Amino acid sequence: MEIKDLLEQSAEILNLTEGWDRDIYFDISKLAEECGEVAAALNKSRFTDEDLADELADVIVVIGVIALKKHIDLEKAIRNKQVKRVDKLLKKFHDGKRTNPAKRISL
Ligand SMILES: [Mg+2]
Repeated sequence: MEIKDLLEQSAEILNLTEGWDRDIYFDISKLAEECGEVAAALNKSRFTDEDLADELADVIVVIGVIALKKHIDLEKAIRNKQVKRVDKLLKKFHDGKRTNPAKRISL
């Protein structure tokens, strides 16, 4: 499922399910809860890789819901941030120069 599909599905749920219209503190607590579940899945041997994958997916869904509520184009935000991140890392680890400046980063 692509992020766009995930967000469309989340929008559908937002319109149908009570609770999703709660304030930002609900979203923050939900995000913290899911991040805590990721940490637990990483730190406790009783969790499987599938459990960890599920918890990582939960974090992404909550982030998607927050983006929807804030009218943020999450795919665009990820692409824009990735360009900035890659530029920063290339500068940091390649002495301020790209190894191949002619090569564009495609996202
Ligand atoms: Mg979870």
